[in-house]
Amino acid sequence: MEKSISCHKCYEEITYKEDLVTAVKFFTVVPYHTDCFAIDSYRSFRGLGPLNGFRGIIVIAIACLFIVTSLVEVVNGDLSFLSIVIFWLLLVYAIIYSYWKYERHLKELPDQYY
Ligand SMILES: [Zn+2]
Repeated sequence: MEKSISCHKCYEEITYKEDLVTAVKFFTVVPYHTDCFAIDSYRSFRGLGPLNGFRGIIVIAIACLFIVTSLVEVVNGDLSFLSIVIFWLLLVYAIIYSYWKYERHLKELPDQYY
């Protein structure tokens, strides 16, 4: 299922997964071309960085570790870890939302471009 996805900076269509970078900007997840993200993040606040691709998988793995260990502390009665759990859950939500809304609709770059 393909859907037209426009870059947040240049408003042109993003065609391939490899050219997509998603990032959190003003509490929303927005899509960029790789080059447009580099220019935009250079000029303004970087935020959380790219959410999709390999980095997103690593962040989800780290988040799962923090969520499980912090939830153990919360269950044991230390509610100060609750904010850590909420932060990581929001980050995981943003990554899953990024995949669901943008990344799954794009096609892979054909082999001859590698
Ligand atoms: Zn662009």
